[in-house]
Amino acid sequence: MPTLRTLEELDRAGLLSPDPRLAEAARSMAIAITPEMLALIDRGDLAHDPIARQFVPSAAETEVSADELADPIGDEARSPVKGLVHRYPDRVLLKPLHVCPVYCRFCFRREKVGPGGEALSAAELETALDYIRDHREIWEVILTGGDPLMMAPRRMGELIAALDAIPHVAVIRVHSRVPIVDPERVSPELVIALKPRRASLWLGIHCNHVRELAAATRAALARLADAGIPLLGQTVLLRGINDDVETLDQLMRALVTARVKPYYLHHPDLVRGTGHFRVSIEAGQALMKALRGRLSGLAQPTYVLDVPGGHGKVPIGPAYLGDDPSALDVEDAFGGHHRYPG
Ligand SMILES: *Cc1c(COP(=O)(O)O)cnc(C)c1O
Ligand code: SF4
Repeated sequence: MPTLRTLEELDRAGLLSPDPRLAEAARSMAIAITPEMLALIDRGDLAHDPIARQFVPSAAETEVSADELADPIGDEARSPVKGLVHRYPDRVLLKPLHVCPVYCRFCFRREKVGPGGEALSAAELETALDYIRDHREIWEVILTGGDPLMMAPRRMGELIAALDAIPHVAVIRVHSRVPIVDPERVSPELVIALKPRRASLWLGIHCNHVRELAAATRAALARLADAGIPLLGQTVLLRGINDDVETLDQLMRALVTARVKPYYLHHPDLVRGTGHFRVSIEAGQALMKALRGRLSGLAQPTYVLDVPGGHGKVPIGPAYLGDDPSALDVEDAFGGHHRYPG
């Protein structure tokens, strides 16, 4: 079965409840639901299904609040050449393409991703590579998009080889949702393409719910881990999908079990039309506190906010230290308070 890409296809699959605003929601962002994700959706309770809610357009997307931004994390302000974002001195984002295997309705690049988006031409990619070659302070290149693992293995291998040939690039990081939503794409050829000869390669995997880790996905993650690729987990905190302790507990444990180290729990960005996904920072901190009290350190992500306007990411707590630096009050993971001499 092919990926579902239109409202009509979603309707035929029984995933929509009629609403006149759905057409507008669908125009605001491309639709894609892979067969693997479709198979995981529980039709009995679509309104609360954590898979359906991530990928099926909803009328709520047409509600845009004044705080929401077209470029929520300020990529454009920090883009010296097309397809490249240079916000931190030692690392850049390189976005070779803008297509994804699925379209997540809460996407932080919601207004950029999709078919027909600005994929880089060969000449533009070369210009971006020249920028990296010319800036010796660039220690790490982060491939993102879109989803870079949508590239054919041969093209991926060529890009990795081009980066690997730049001596000051020590680390290549790839951010992807492919192993979760389209695990068969993680072919032996793709795994080989992800092996630079010299640089280190890390793979960040976007996963928001334990149900996304079906058998085929676990097998794909095992192929990557067995090839020696270190795997990181990135989760977006999403209202009604994973904003409760039990769900996050199960997800973080499942990731570690699949040899994926939880890296970031992202506070949802101020993306236009995504208010229905947003959680308060206070609620996010309370969840993090609860996780600290019940999960292995291996399973703890850092809770981060991407400061709107292109100011980068910062950890947003919770804090365990009181304000008085001369007599610190330390709160333990179980809510007890202790004095630490300052
Ligand atoms: C998120 C991001 C990075 C990577 O940040 P880390 O904290 O190193 O994971 C780098 N550049 C930009 C522009 C980013 O948005
Ligand atoms: S896979 Fe990533 S880039 Fe693509 S729509 Fe989902 S969140 Fe956005």
